[in-house]
Amino acid sequence: MCSGTLECAYDVVVAGAGPAGSVLSRLLALQGAKVLMVDAAPFPRRKPCGESLNPGAVQTLSRLYDGRQADEWLHEASIPHSVLNGWQLNSAAVGSSRMTTLAASYGDNRYGIGCKRELLDGWLIEQAYRAGVVFEEKTRLERLIWEKGRLIGVEVRRLGDGQRPQMVRTQMVAGADGIRSAVARSADLSRFGKLRKAALTARLNGIDGLSGKVELYVSGDRVIGLAPIGGGLANMTVALRGLKAMEGAATGKAAYLMSEARQWEALKERFHHAEIEGDVLACGPFERIVRSTALEGMVLVGDAAGYYDPMTGQGIYRALRSAELAAPALMEALQTGSHRALQWYNRQRLTEFSGSLRLQKLIEQASRYERLWRAGLQVIGASEALTNRLAAAISDSRPVHR
Ligand SMILES: Cc1cc2nc3c(=O)[nH]c(=O)nc-3n(C[C@H](O)[C@H](O)[C@H](O)COP(=O)(O)OP(=O)(O)OC[C@H]3O[C@@H](n4cnc5c(N)ncnc54)[C@H](O)[C@@H]3O)c2cc1C
Repeated sequence: MCSGTLECAYDVVVAGAGPAGSVLSRLLALQGAKVLMVDAAPFPRRKPCGESLNPGAVQTLSRLYDGRQADEWLHEASIPHSVLNGWQLNSAAVGSSRMTTLAASYGDNRYGIGCKRELLDGWLIEQAYRAGVVFEEKTRLERLIWEKGRLIGVEVRRLGDGQRPQMVRTQMVAGADGIRSAVARSADLSRFGKLRKAALTARLNGIDGLSGKVELYVSGDRVIGLAPIGGGLANMTVALRGLKAMEGAATGKAAYLMSEARQWEALKERFHHAEIEGDVLACGPFERIVRSTALEGMVLVGDAAGYYDPMTGQGIYRALRSAELAAPALMEALQTGSHRALQWYNRQRLTEFSGSLRLQKLIEQASRYERLWRAGLQVIGASEALTNRLAAAISDSRPVHR
């Protein structure tokens, strides 16, 4: 018997209780593994995010949670949310009011969901807990501990009570600890990329004309994302290229966000009664390059496995799907003692995500060249087939036949 949760030995320690960590922990516990999930934050915690789940994320949640529609269980759990039926991409040259618009519906019974991340993440943690996962909040993973080249445990520190770091014994570790993953750093697997972007994100009430679509407004080095998240609120996220721009925005964040929105003729009227609720969160830079997502005794999932840019809103899908792929690989590695299943996870994740990652990079880079960008939007917008293909590619989903 162990005297406290951190004194026990585990099959798997999962660092991070975002969507990737909670889903992975629950899947492992359902297969009989003894799992400890630790998170450095006190919960519920906000996460800088556009708070829009794309159709692929919604379908993955439905597959993982008893085949039920995600909007049904969100309703049952009294989590306010909005159903998203597509997106609208608006672009204008700096200082110009002429806008080019490309709109797409997800179609084929596909839909996305907008909701507060702390409520979604809290629900996912609860499901992990119900499956038998031991969860410790305010507990940070500091580093991995190796002995003779073999992983034997992790060093964790409980935050806020002045306690010294302590060792937790485990056979495997999963890093689900986000962009700045301590697990990836400790294994010397990650580095920052060249993309220097930062973002401010807030929730607003009183915005008129929200249509059930994710709206994007692209101009120069800024992108505004706007999406309904239920309960009469919308999430507004402004991503800025160049960290210098961020320094300017960081003072008076709320006023900055409002002035960014009101620069768009199409938003001025709609923001007439808009008010920010709660804090404005700042984050960045985002790009994180990871050499490998699996080593002997260790995997990386979600943002910890690498991240590029939030513009296309695919991060939550990748967090959920990578956890779904990693779970059977970790179980096989636990049962056989062989590293092969973890290598399979590394390859499979790459195979599944590399096409959409390439597209994401193309979109980010094309958006730097104003004329080319708007000409591209016009060409795609003139063809229903091209618009639908783009919509399908960034929705990470399949048609649903009911
Ligand atoms: C500005 C912005 C907007 C975005 N908008 C969208 C969007 O609209 N749609 C979408 O799909 N994606 C969006 N994303 C991406 C999305 O937020 C992430 O991809 C998603 O949250 C990844 O989930 P995760 O579980 O991997 O990590 P996270 O949700 O980041 O969770 C990681 C957890 O690890 C914990 N942690 C960190 N370090 C440690 C440690 N050392 N020890 C223990 N715990 C630790 C943190 O407290 C956190 O709870 C956006 C991202 C940004 C930055």
